[in-house]
Amino acid sequence: MQLYLHIPFCHRICPYCSFYKHTPGNTDMRAFIDAILLEGKKHVEKIGENKLTTLYCGGGTPSMLSPTHLKLLFSGLREIFDMSELKELTFEANPATFDLTKAKLFKELGITRISLGIQSFDNGVLKTLGREHNREEAMAAVPILREAGIKEVNIDLMFSIPGQTLEVWQDTLDTAVSLNPDHISAYNLTYEEDTAFIDKLTAGEYIDDSETNAQMFTAGHDTLTAAGFEHYETSNYAKIGTRSTHNLSYWKGANYLGLGPSAVSTVGNTRWKNLPDTANYINQINHVGHAQTESEHLTEEDLHLEQIALQLRTTDGLPLDVLSDGERQRAQSVIDEGMAKVLDGNMILTGEGRLLVDSIVEHIV
Ligand code: SF4
Repeated sequence: MQLYLHIPFCHRICPYCSFYKHTPGNTDMRAFIDAILLEGKKHVEKIGENKLTTLYCGGGTPSMLSPTHLKLLFSGLREIFDMSELKELTFEANPATFDLTKAKLFKELGITRISLGIQSFDNGVLKTLGREHNREEAMAAVPILREAGIKEVNIDLMFSIPGQTLEVWQDTLDTAVSLNPDHISAYNLTYEEDTAFIDKLTAGEYIDDSETNAQMFTAGHDTLTAAGFEHYETSNYAKIGTRSTHNLSYWKGANYLGLGPSAVSTVGNTRWKNLPDTANYINQINHVGHAQTESEHLTEEDLHLEQIALQLRTTDGLPLDVLSDGERQRAQSVIDEGMAKVLDGNMILTGEGRLLVDSIVEHIV
């Protein structure tokens, strides 16, 4: 089973972010940890399975939890879940929230992979993004994690940010490479509903330009593949043996359980979401035993469309034999136009196709 934990706390709120998150305020952290653990225990009792293959702690900013709360969380998780065959334990961290002592604690807790929310090494861009850290803190974070003995380090980067020129993006890419991480995720900024950024886009203050997006995507691909990273998913690059196991399972449609406010779970044909409200989440878990707010039955058609959309984003590609006759004909037209190739029966997008992945998915289905 894949397990995701949502830790919704951030020291400050970035104006582009659409995840469920908030400043801790007067949240009772001990009660929050207890609720997450109780939710996990209830699920294990219900589904009768507790063996984890991957664990991913995201947010929010999980690394802002105090050492005491981190120890409580992980000792509780180990009592509930069997982690003897865990392949990967990823923990999201922001540079300004840990030092060497805390990084050593991450290692002691069994964390194998830290995903660093750096986004940019340019102080001007970081200011636009409302991030807490600066270039120096971002650059210091990777050596600290290495010194603490963390096995794998991912750096999250973002491009097409207002005010970010191609030169500034190139400097961020080069700086990331110079730090020798195992994995880099490079995301095109998306303007999400209910964010300050989309208000500025709507008001014409910001511009979302597809040509700039394509240039920056290509700069990312060229720089990172030249530096020895494999471009294995639209936004993800890995050195040999360091692809994200958790994300790969998700892209392949594996079951996953999500704990915490706003967390989504998919088990078989059922997908549900928890309440995106920490106080109510704690209350519901303690009094009702769950905090589910939305549940949907996924039809075979839903799962099929999802498989096409997710697997076409990977370099392993989409098995052509899962497509219907009509879908296969439309896929063939994409292949004939040179935007995809076929290898071992899988359709794999090539250069231009990768840029147009969303339109290609729409075309095929
Ligand atoms: S630190 Fe991450 S989760 Fe928190 S507001 Fe910023 S982008 Fe969102």
